Order: sequence, then C-alpha cells, then structure tokens
Amino acid sequence: MKIVLIGPPGSGKGTQAELVCNKTGFLHYSTGDHFRAHIIQKSPLGIKIEEYVTKGLLVPDEIVLEVTDEFIKENNNKGIVFDGFPRTLTQAEGLDNILRNRMNQLIDLVVFIKLSQEEVIKRLSARRVCANCGTIYNLISHPPKFNGKCDNCEGRLYQRNDDKPETIIKRFRVYEQSLEPVLDYYRKQQKLQVVNGALAPDKVFEQIKGLLSG
Ligand code: AMP
Repeated sequence: MKIVLIGPPGSGKGTQAELVCNKTGFLHYSTGDHFRAHIIQKSPLGIKIEEYVTKGLLVPDEIVLEVTDEFIKENNNKGIVFDGFPRTLTQAEGLDNILRNRMNQLIDLVVFIKLSQEEVIKRLSARRVCANCGTIYNLISHPPKFNGKCDNCEGRLYQRNDDKPETIIKRFRVYEQSLEPVLDYYRKQQKLQVVNGALAPDKVFEQIKGLLSG
C-alpha cells in the first residue's frame, strides 16, 4: 500500500505517519526529515537545499523527485507512508510516474490533516526537537520532564530554525498556495480523505485507522 499524508506544517503529519508505520510495518518517508539529515551531515544535497529549508521555501521539484525516485527504487516492494510529500502538483504527478514506472502501482489513499493558520502558529512556536534522537516535544501539549532536556536520552532540545514565527507564517502561505492543486488532483482521483487535525493525536489516529480499514 502507498499512502500520502498531507497537512500544514505542525499538523502532526510526522506523528501520525509514525503511528501508521508502527501499526502496519510500512516505511515512513519524510522529505523534511530527509532534507534535515542531509543539512546536518553537510552532504552535497544538504548544501544545495539548506537555504530553501532555512527560509521556509520549497525545495525545487526536480531535486525532491530525484531523491524520492532513489528512495522508491530501493524500497519498491514495501508499503510506504509519504509524509510532507507531494507538496506541489508537479510532485504529485511525478510521484505517480515513478510508482507506475518502478512498480506498476499508484497511490492508494491520501489523507489531508486539516488545521487552521492560527493553530499552526500556536503549535509550531512551541515545538522543540531533541538534537540527539529527534524526539519531538511541544512546550504546551507535550513538554519534557526537565526544561530543555530530552526525556529519552537527555539530549539538548532545540527550536528548528524554520519554527521561528516569521518563517512559520511564510511556510503556511507557501503551503497553502502550492497545496490546492495537489488536493484537487487527488480529489479528482477520488483518493482524498480529510481528517480534523485540531483533535488530540490519538483521536486523529482513530480517524486515519478508520480510513485504512475502510
Ligand atoms: P517539513 O518537515 O515537512 O515541514 O519540511 C521542512 C522543509 O523542508 C520545508 O519547509 C521545505 O523547505 C522542505 N521540504 C520538505 N518536503 C518538501 C517537499 N515535498 N517539497 C519541497 N520542499 C520540501
């Protein structure tokens, strides 16, 4: 099965993708995580994309599709949850082409986790990430036990550069503009399902589980 999770930054896509993967054994493919890892490693790809990511701009479609093709080539016989991808119509069409060429398959289900701009700003400004193991906290809804320290590994918690307020608003605008054609594309294929991202994570997951079994 191939599933796409779409939603604004901070809608809990990553958390929900993890929950789905734990339940199903599918692979979690997050373009955002992938890009951040390359930036930290200062790899050639990381150097090429760092400026886009730090400024909250979309990485060019051809780079995103090249990286995705590579990933699918290596994992073509597995179930995959795509998280934060596709984000543009070109990426959605490109993903269908890759799946068709590599494995004669298409996307099975697209879940849109809907959340307002107000809620996005509130959530993202409170998000902190462990520099060591990547665990995500929220200072309001899921704070660490000790200030600035990860509960799992005592790693240092940091705020993503692109989670600063001015970048959050920019990311939301970028997301809105590029996403409408993607939603339309999947709506026409009758694959699009909408869930309410303002609910607690377990409630959002309940909705997604219903769609997976439906
Ligand atoms: P995310 O963790 O999904 O919010 O992604 C963080 C940043 O990575 C985004 O603001 C973009 O700069 C870049 N990025 C992640 N996924 C994509 C994508 N599918 N297309 C273009 N840029 C992306």
